[in-house]
Amino acid sequence: MKATPQQLVREEILALEAYSVTPAAGMIKLDAMENPYRLPEALREEVGRLVSTLPINRYPDPTAPELKARLRAAFEIPAAAAVLIGNGSDEIIQIVAQTLARQGAVLLAPEPSFVMYRVSALLAGMRYVGVPLAPDFTLDLERFLAAMREAQPAVVFIAYPNNPTGNLFPEAALARIIAEAPGLVVVDEAYHAFAGRTFLDRVPANPNLMVMRTVSKLGLAGIRLGYAAAAPEWIAELDKVRPPYNVSVVTQCVAERLLEHLDVLERQAEAVKRERAALVGRLQDLKGVAPFPTEANFILIRVPHADAVFACLKERKVLVRNLSGSHPLLADCLRLTVGTPGENALMLDALAECL
Ligand SMILES: *Cc1c(COP(=O)(O)O)cnc(C)c1O
Repeated sequence: MKATPQQLVREEILALEAYSVTPAAGMIKLDAMENPYRLPEALREEVGRLVSTLPINRYPDPTAPELKARLRAAFEIPAAAAVLIGNGSDEIIQIVAQTLARQGAVLLAPEPSFVMYRVSALLAGMRYVGVPLAPDFTLDLERFLAAMREAQPAVVFIAYPNNPTGNLFPEAALARIIAEAPGLVVVDEAYHAFAGRTFLDRVPANPNLMVMRTVSKLGLAGIRLGYAAAAPEWIAELDKVRPPYNVSVVTQCVAERLLEHLDVLERQAEAVKRERAALVGRLQDLKGVAPFPTEANFILIRVPHADAVFACLKERKVLVRNLSGSHPLLADCLRLTVGTPGENALMLDALAECL
C-alpha cells in the first residue's frame, strides 16, 4: 500500500488553501495592483527584437551583473549595500524565511498586511506572530515594540506602504522598530513608485535593515523580478538559499532594457497617482463608502455588505478584491486597484448601482 498525500504532506500544508486568483477574462481587472497601462508600441517592438536574439538554450548568469548594475543605477541603491534578486519579491520573502528558520525562530509582522509573510513563515517552518494594527489601520507602535520584546523575532516584515490597507506608517515609528529589533527588519517597498518614500538610503547605517522592492506594481508584474538591498553579510547568506537560476534570461534581459526607459514607467505611475486622487474624491462623494488614506496604487474602502457589493460588481464585470472575512479588522472591506480613467469611471458607476 502506497501512502496517500494526506499521510505524507505536512499538516500545515494540508491545512492551507491554494492562493486563489479569480479568472478575469472579459472583466475590468482591478484586483491585483497591476499597472493598467501597456508599454508604448515602439518599446514593445524593441523588447520583442531583443528577446529574439537571446540564447535561451543557456542558463542565465546567476550573478546577473548587468541587471544588478542597472538596478543600482535606476533606483539609487547605495554602493555599500549588496543586492539580492528574486523571481518576484514573493520569492525573496521565501528566501528570507528559509534562511532564518532555525528551530523556534519567529517572523513578526503587523496585521493585516501582505499574506505572503505569514504563508512563507509557515512553509519554512518559522513561527509567525502577527501584531494587530489599530482599527483605523494605523500602527500601534508601543504594542508593536512590546510584541517584539516578547517574541524576539529573527525577522520583522513591514510593508511601506502597507498592503492591503494602503497607508504609510510614520517614518519615526519604523526607525524605532529598526533600532529596537533584535534581528533583521525587512522594509517592503513594493509600492515605492506611488509613495515616493524610502528607507533605502538608511541601509548603510543600519546593519539589520533590508529594503525590498519589486518591479511588479510599476508595470512589469509579468516578468517576475524583485530585488532587495542590505549589508553584504546578509545578502551573502541569503544568496546561498536563492535558487541559482531563479531570474530567467528573458527577465534579466527585458528588465535591463526597460530600466533604461524607467521614465516611461514613472510617467505611468504619475498618471496612476493623479487618477488615485480623483478616485478618492469620487469615492468620498458616494454615500455609504468610506475610503481609507492611501499612498499606493489601490484604495481600501469599507461598504455596507461588502460580500454582496463584491458579487454585484462581479456580475457587472468589475473585479475587485474582497477582503471581508480575511481578517477581523477588514470586515466589509474591498480593495480597489486604480485603473485607467475609463476603467475607474465604469467601476464607480457599477459601485453606485451596487450599493
Ligand atoms: C505585490 C506585493 C509583493 C509581491 O510582489 P512580486 O514582486 O510581484 O512578487 C510584495 N510585497 C507586497 C507588500 C506586495 O503588495
